[in-house]
Amino acid sequence: MSERVPRPRTTPRVRAEIDLDALRANVRSLRARVSGAALMAVVKADGYGHGAVPCARAAKEAGAEWLGTATPEEALALRAAGLPGRILCWLWAPGGPWREAIAADVDVSVSASWSLREVTDAARAEGRPARVHLKADTGLGRNGCQPADWPDLVAAALSAQRDGLIEVVGLWSHFACADEPDHPATDAQLALFREMVGYAEAQGVRPEVRHIANSPALLTRPDTHFDLVRAGIAVYGVSPAPELGSSADLGLRPVMRLSADLVLVKEVPGGHGVSYGHHYVTPGETTLGLVPAGYADGIPRHASGTGPVLVDGKLRTVAGRIAMDQFVVDLGGDRPRTGSEAVLFGAGDQGEPTAEDWAQACGTIAYEIVTRIGVRVPRVYVNERPTG
Ligand SMILES: *Cc1c(COP(=O)(O)O)cnc(C)c1O
Repeated sequence: MSERVPRPRTTPRVRAEIDLDALRANVRSLRARVSGAALMAVVKADGYGHGAVPCARAAKEAGAEWLGTATPEEALALRAAGLPGRILCWLWAPGGPWREAIAADVDVSVSASWSLREVTDAARAEGRPARVHLKADTGLGRNGCQPADWPDLVAAALSAQRDGLIEVVGLWSHFACADEPDHPATDAQLALFREMVGYAEAQGVRPEVRHIANSPALLTRPDTHFDLVRAGIAVYGVSPAPELGSSADLGLRPVMRLSADLVLVKEVPGGHGVSYGHHYVTPGETTLGLVPAGYADGIPRHASGTGPVLVDGKLRTVAGRIAMDQFVVDLGGDRPRTGSEAVLFGAGDQGEPTAEDWAQACGTIAYEIVTRIGVRVPRVYVNERPTG
């Protein structure tokens, strides 16, 4: 069992414990599976809700060679916190902080002529070339350059490289259906990726890294690893999809443990409505426990009546609606003391539910469960220093 940090004097009513040793173990396990490629730990969206900076540090301690973020602001925040090494960010809007990224030695992604123009202008102003990854749309239909526009983008990038304004260091793409192992789109995207990379290389691009794999592709398709894999959800110990197995099946350990202290335990008669709308009515005389966490904390309201919670060794279910700040569980006559811990999700090996269980209880993906945990929930870091 992992060691717990001493509780602060004022115990937060609800907290997300983040076990950085679990995160390091996940990174080591993922690196072992991609022996031929480097590993990028994706820490966008505040490290999928776990805290970007501590998670980025722990990932690097465990050997992650790269860090990845969606926005440039996220990448710049990592640099400002002192994180060294390669950082790639890929979600740019017109007028974005290109100069700041170049000055901070952050790699950038380019999918279109507008962003190539902006990055070359910024490089000229900064007096230093930008490190660019050209992104191909091989079938996701989201960001990335369409095959029909690829020759123009490659030609323009090579011209900017000859002018000393950029270095094309990466060629990359992103999968649409890697979480469905037998989906034919993955093979089709892979074939097109090879073609688009081949074209760019034939024109003279010499990429340092070619990359397309996310967590599900990392775990199921070694033929997609190329030079670099971009792992997000797996770093946090969460399975990308139930079809791929649980975290334990995948050799991963969930990093976040979300718990709260019961703030009230009381007896109520049968036939008593519970929470807004009275969607739950006590079937008989029972006890209710009040959990001080709600949708403002990121507990999905869609889990009303379905979310699982471990209280005093027993699995309970959210009774009635989840409100903004609180919800209720029916304790079936048990009387745990006020202050007893209610565990919403964790590693799953102490009888507690997992983020995957919550995803299933409310019809979403586990990515959303951990990422949406709100700013009102303090992150409590466990095992901040590497122990192994
Ligand atoms: C979020 C993201 C990833 C990581 O995906 P996971 O499924 O969490 O591993 C990789 N690449 C890109 C472009 C992303 O946006």
